[in-house]
Amino acid sequence: MSETPLQHEPVLTVFQKGAEGRRAFQCPERDVPEVDPEQLLPARLRRSQPPRLPELSEPEIVRHYVRLSKRNFDLDSGFYPLGSCTMKHNPRLHERLAALPGHARLHPLQDAEHAQGALELMWNLERALAEIAGLPYVSLQPSAGSHGELAGVLLTRAYHEDRGEHRHKVLTPDTAHGTNPATVTMAGFEVVKLATNTDGGVDLEDLRAKADTDVACLMLTNPNTLGVFDANIQEISHIVHDVGATLYYDGANLNAVMGLSRPGDMGFDIVHFNLHKSFTQPHGGGGPGSGPIAVSERIEPYLPCPVITRETHGDGEAAPARFALENDRPKSIGRLRGFQGNYGCFVRAYAYICSLGAEGLKDASETAVLNANYLLALLKQEGVAEHLPLAYGELCMHEFVLSGGPMKRELQIKTLDLAKRLLDFGYHPPTVYFPLLVEEALMVEPTETETKETLDAFAKAIAEILREAAEDPQLARNAPYTTPVRRLDEVGAAKRPVIRQAL
Ligand SMILES: *Cc1c(COP(=O)(O)O)cnc(C)c1O
Repeated sequence: MSETPLQHEPVLTVFQKGAEGRRAFQCPERDVPEVDPEQLLPARLRRSQPPRLPELSEPEIVRHYVRLSKRNFDLDSGFYPLGSCTMKHNPRLHERLAALPGHARLHPLQDAEHAQGALELMWNLERALAEIAGLPYVSLQPSAGSHGELAGVLLTRAYHEDRGEHRHKVLTPDTAHGTNPATVTMAGFEVVKLATNTDGGVDLEDLRAKADTDVACLMLTNPNTLGVFDANIQEISHIVHDVGATLYYDGANLNAVMGLSRPGDMGFDIVHFNLHKSFTQPHGGGGPGSGPIAVSERIEPYLPCPVITRETHGDGEAAPARFALENDRPKSIGRLRGFQGNYGCFVRAYAYICSLGAEGLKDASETAVLNANYLLALLKQEGVAEHLPLAYGELCMHEFVLSGGPMKRELQIKTLDLAKRLLDFGYHPPTVYFPLLVEEALMVEPTETETKETLDAFAKAIAEILREAAEDPQLARNAPYTTPVRRLDEVGAAKRPVIRQAL
């Protein structure tokens, strides 16, 4: 970013560039007879004017988009410790595999009979995810973590309705990711907040008071968004199951526990995975995601349609298996989307699981936790903890949440100022102002793919920014200085987006 030389050409939109008649590609002269267009398509369906497309040469197009790409921050150019988002490196091997024509060119409407390889990959991925979650049945359909949550809450509703029960509340801790209460509301349930205890876990007294037969489900993240593993999970599970509710695991934070602990063993009924976080996919910026769910025996009848089935004909293991898509499931909540899910994500996640193996996945989680704790210890050593103390506990899982409250009072800079100043040091800022219950929160998730050198340099950068602030808080308050744009009106951008450039 700061390495990009100054450009003297003005920054124009693609519509402002080019010249009339300029082309990237010329079609050869037509060598077939011309046909009256009316015979092919009636006039009412045809354009009367040619589309107003930009007219550019190929080098202009390439430069335009490459230049735009450099004006953004990305994981391939720098450290991206965005808490709760697991911005780990995406191995290039996965891209090669996803681009193989048999994967990339497979038509989504191809019938199952002629897509056996793809179905086998999906079936194998389902088995691997079932093993990781400790829950036997998987649906790959949901397209994001939040979509997996919606699937899970709809499954819960189908489960209770099938038993003739009418429950209208869903419990979520006040540390929950914003998508949890949003999902609950979308699915037509009432959100009931649970308090957090002094250790950063669920307040058991509050849970006991609120768990009754109106409760359909408790949605929990463990480790939660504070980076704290709730040691009371078995007790929580008993309380929830005693009132006949289901226990939902928000598995977006699975990066801390892969191969170490399994939600199914903790008593959860439904789990969603974020393949685009824990299992590597380029993500952020709205790219394709994948949020499969794994469920227990009692939830299985309601799984979305279709499900993948595997049958072997003939004797023994060696007989070739046939895969099919099964739609005849009377209790199913139905389809969640077109086709079977974001298939490219399945290929990458499966490649990741196969190339790491069971031991490798466990190692990834252990290293993610080690890296987070190493960074936390470094920040203490650099004297940062005094102004930015850890919000809960002593150690963390794969991420930690600091409170910028003391920094704001003692050094007169806010968490937002620190985040903006970090951009000048070449780092993407951590997540800010989440979770809501921590004052001036700063949520850091380094992931397992960063080197010790990167973590050392990042800790030094934070310490340097605090030193600067002690002398002159204005420096951070006016940051960033080196980015293509300075401080933006983010609320304005969200509420009044300019999505159409006047031509
Ligand atoms: C990212 C995240 C989600 C939502 O996942 P999306 O794929 O962004 O919809 C839910 N819960 C937690 C804890 C997360 O970090």
